[in-house]
Amino acid sequence: VTTFKDQTVPLFGLGGSGLATAKALQAGGADVVCFDDNTDRVSQAGKDGLKTQNLRELDWSHVSALVLAPGVPLTHPVPHWSVDLARDAGVEVIGDVELFCRERRVLCPQAPMIAITGTNGKSTTTALISHLLEALGYDVQMGGNIGTPVLDLAPPQPGRHYVIECSSYQIDLAPTLDPTVGVHMNLSPDHLDRHGSMEHYAAIKERLVAGSKVAIVGVDDRLSSMIADRLELARKPVCRIAGERELTSGIYARHGDLLEAHDGTQTEVAHLGGIDSLRGDHNGQNAAAAFAALRALDIPPAKIAGALKTFPGLHHRMEVVARNGRILFINDSKATNADAAARALSSFDRIYWIAGGRAKEGGISSLDEYFPRIAKTFLIGEAASEFAKTLEGRVPFKVSGTLAEAVRDAAGEAAEDGAEEIAILLSPACASFDQFPNFELRGAAFVDAVRALPGDKNTQE
Ligand code: ADP
Repeated sequence: VTTFKDQTVPLFGLGGSGLATAKALQAGGADVVCFDDNTDRVSQAGKDGLKTQNLRELDWSHVSALVLAPGVPLTHPVPHWSVDLARDAGVEVIGDVELFCRERRVLCPQAPMIAITGTNGKSTTTALISHLLEALGYDVQMGGNIGTPVLDLAPPQPGRHYVIECSSYQIDLAPTLDPTVGVHMNLSPDHLDRHGSMEHYAAIKERLVAGSKVAIVGVDDRLSSMIADRLELARKPVCRIAGERELTSGIYARHGDLLEAHDGTQTEVAHLGGIDSLRGDHNGQNAAAAFAALRALDIPPAKIAGALKTFPGLHHRMEVVARNGRILFINDSKATNADAAARALSSFDRIYWIAGGRAKEGGISSLDEYFPRIAKTFLIGEAASEFAKTLEGRVPFKVSGTLAEAVRDAAGEAAEDGAEEIAILLSPACASFDQFPNFELRGAAFVDAVRALPGDKNTQE
């Protein structure tokens, strides 16, 4: 990115996307000075040919902007020390998505940018939009908070479509975020540790759709619905979408169909039934959002409906990893909060549930409406005793401890169950960090444990 050519730009945070950002700035001729509180990362960056220096020792009087990696605290609970230094020097603080937006405005503002945010469903919706566009023959670059960092994507050029997942961290660091189509999925209490209050978290998410040409807003939850109302009052073109309610205007899912409504007149536009990767109400919301995004680009409904059928789905999100007769093994490791786990629990009728890890606030007490579907719960990780208290006297449970043990326990008991369809479901409602480096490796450990089951319990699909 050439935005800061010949200018001094300090960058803090040398994880994956921080490194990509530093390299992109350097390649564009900026004098990037990198730092991190982790000394190993600093020396690795030095070896990668990046200039490193303790930013406390930098002369901030000639600095153009501080570039922050997503996840470094901007405001909550207290600003990171580098942010304090930048503010004292009167320097703006931005992130990689902001740099991408500036670059796009210079190189090719007409290259469509579809940006997606929300508490849940971001990755699925981002991957689905990207799949639909690719299936219809468009030049597509997908990245951001999913897969490739934005600044590692191919540069903007006419006809190239960007599908960018944005975390609230990235939006917070992108003051001029201006997507062609902005998609806001939903809001539920997650990441409050960083953003303080729900209102502040909602305000950050709202900025993405407020800055877009066309706004697509999920209205299944009240706070998001209020966002749609406010945008409309401000005369922004808004398309409402829903997975759990009918709309008089907008795009919504009902009983496995997608419907487009205009002034109270509904038209069926696509069938979702039979598309395994789009099972469950929550995927109805995701499909509605993706459909709306392509409609906003003037792509005809019939074309979108056809391309929906070939969506392969994402790993670790209600992914059917094995089937043994009546027993499905489902990897939903990505469900790191209760709200996400609720989606999986609502999608199956008889469940042997593997849950636990590092608990989020509120634990699993909000999931009681799904308890009747659960034959037994197998608890793992730090959250086991807290979750056991919630389940006590309501759902049978066992403290299995490790994921491998939980899979063995669940498979053993499910084999004795006579129900027509049984799901052995890893949907932990917890972060993975007490036992795994990330949710991907937790999902991989689940798959390994399923493969290690005695032959008759495990038939790979
Ligand atoms: P994100 O990228 O926002 O974390 P994902 O698409 O990776 O979202 O899905 C994360 C988890 O949330 C999955 O376990 C899935 O079951 C659940 N989920 C997916 N889409 C939605 C949705 N629209 N609303 C609520 N939960 C969802």
